Amino acid sequence: RLSDKLGKVFKKLKGHGKLTEANIQEALREVRLALLEADVHYKVAKTFIDRIRERALGQEVMTSLTPGQQVVKIVHDELAALLGGEAPRLELGGKTPVALMLVGLQGSGKTTTAAKLALYLKKQGRQPLLAPVDTQRPAAIEQLHRLGAEIGVDVYRSQPQQNPVALASEAMAAAVAKGHDVLLLDTAGRLHVDAPLMAELQAIKADVGPAEILLVADAMTGQDAVAVAQNFHEALDLTGVILTKVEGDARGGAALSMRTVVNKPIKFLGVGEKLDALEVFHPDRLASRILGMGDVLTLIEKAQDAFDADQAKELERKLRKETFTLEDFRDQLRQVRKMGSLDQLMGMIPGLNKIKGMKDMQPDEKELVRIEAIINSMTPAERANHVLIDGSRRRRIAKGSGVEVQDVNRLLKNFAMTQKMMKKMIQAGKKGGKRRFLP
Ligand code: GDP
Ligand code: MG
Repeated sequence: RLSDKLGKVFKKLKGHGKLTEANIQEALREVRLALLEADVHYKVAKTFIDRIRERALGQEVMTSLTPGQQVVKIVHDELAALLGGEAPRLELGGKTPVALMLVGLQGSGKTTTAAKLALYLKKQGRQPLLAPVDTQRPAAIEQLHRLGAEIGVDVYRSQPQQNPVALASEAMAAAVAKGHDVLLLDTAGRLHVDAPLMAELQAIKADVGPAEILLVADAMTGQDAVAVAQNFHEALDLTGVILTKVEGDARGGAALSMRTVVNKPIKFLGVGEKLDALEVFHPDRLASRILGMGDVLTLIEKAQDAFDADQAKELERKLRKETFTLEDFRDQLRQVRKMGSLDQLMGMIPGLNKIKGMKDMQPDEKELVRIEAIINSMTPAERANHVLIDGSRRRRIAKGSGVEVQDVNRLLKNFAMTQKMMKKMIQAGKKGGKRRFLP
């Protein structure tokens, strides 16, 4: 991972008295390699490195930062700048219903993203109408109807084999008639960019006059996605990009390159198959994430959605008073599994990816089951106060849960670390002055 690589580079820089030309050069060489490995377009990487060099060399060494921290800060700021400033999430002003058009290759995630956006808008009190404009594939139409039913959003019912352009304008008329304020057009995709499709999309655009034309692009396809984006942008003049499937490693690379090539804001990230797996895109957060600093705010926002308010309040109280117990730890593990991919969540907690023991116990579902078994084998008193658990108790617990004593030892060590991390997380969330667990 890019973040691991950069982490290593900056560790090397730490402990040097000041930024010298030589160590900046060395760090930048590593950064460049790391960027290329993360699938960042080579031209983007070059521009980026040049900018960092210029800034790093021209700058006084700040007394408050170590040289390593200072380079991290510069790289972070530049990454955030490259990824673009904050953009409006969606252009929803003007005459209602506002049409949003989703375009992209087949399989990029358009239909899923249309439903995710509908849910997102519904949560904000809007009344979206979903319209499948894919007239070729009945299965795609059915898919959207199914997703719409799941989230309780209306889906326009089209006639079979209807002309897509006529269909789009009829959907618009239906949106007007039924008082919807947003119309989400899920357009047809192809496996490759082709001229008839582009012509069809241009005709829909001319007819409906969408406020946004959003390219839905699969981040896993890396540089291919960038070439595709260029094609769609030339034909349709996109207003923004939604990157999907960014849970994987390619997220940093694809986003950076996409942003540079299309030069339109990335508005959302798709981070999973579930319909709430949509994140507002924050350039500075992605920059932090690429650098391995973790993304505390996103994590906390996620936590906020998944926890019910009382539970969150209770957790915050416990963390404050440092009465977070093994029992809570077990509940947390269960919650975390509800929230989504563990790997993804752990990656967002600062420092967690660097702690060895934590990494070992991280993504393996079987390990989670084992941890639960171990905690279940403890007495309530032990769960409430892990300090009680001495050598003989450890042996008893290991026997009871069918594991080795080392497993119990490791769990207790990890628990102690988690206790610390959770505390830090809360503090970091507070420092940011943003939302915490409490709404
Ligand atoms: P379309 O052909 O562009 O409409 O693509 P679909 O919406 O049908 O999605 C294709 C596949 O990608 C489906 O299996 C989706 O569940 C999956 N998918 C969509 N978005 C995401 C995402 O953000 N993460 C993951 N992991 N899968 C996604
Ligand atoms: Mg589709």
